[in-house]
Amino acid sequence: MKTPLLNPNSFLFSYTMIINSFLKNITKYLDLGKEIYLSPIYGCKFCGYEGMLHRHGYYSRNVITKYSIHRISILRVKCPSCGKTHAVLPSFLIPYYQYSLEFIFECLYLSFVMKDSYSKIVNLFNSLNPDLSFKASNISSFKKRMNENNSIVNSFFAGFDSLYYDMDYPKVSSIIEKIKVFPKDIFDFNSTFFKMMPKYFFSKV
Ligand SMILES: [Zn+2]
Repeated sequence: MKTPLLNPNSFLFSYTMIINSFLKNITKYLDLGKEIYLSPIYGCKFCGYEGMLHRHGYYSRNVITKYSIHRISILRVKCPSCGKTHAVLPSFLIPYYQYSLEFIFECLYLSFVMKDSYSKIVNLFNSLNPDLSFKASNISSFKKRMNENNSIVNSFFAGFDSLYYDMDYPKVSSIIEKIKVFPKDIFDFNSTFFKMMPKYFFSKV
């Protein structure tokens, strides 16, 4: 019997999500709809089963991007070995956040790296997307989560490529810069992080 890759008691929801690298672009995702899920999904992080997971319906959820709010379908799959169901998220999303990865990351970048004020960031996002009521409290909750994730992201970089690794405890701003220059892009960072680490990026620590 295979050893489970995750401790089932560690965090109730962390293993019910799969970050898939199939699509990074929300526009393409909206064009294709459920057809996006034609290719099979393999591998259950919960029990270590490596085969194909069975389709188990869809649910819809909101995605808030810089310019608009969308409703998209998310595939659920079920592991034939352990019976656990997983939601298959495209890599432009972070589990349990309605804001897209790009939105959250840009907000973090503006605050931690560019040192923009909260009011400047709030005004920028609210002017780009008229349907939005983005608040300073959203920024502080993103920043709090990023602070909590900082050392785990640093250890991801250690496993990914020692060139990125900072032996000293790195500042959040330098970790954010490293994510920004990740090979390909931040979406690839998101799916690679999910593949290599026990929890997804930006998870509750
Ligand atoms: Zn399983």
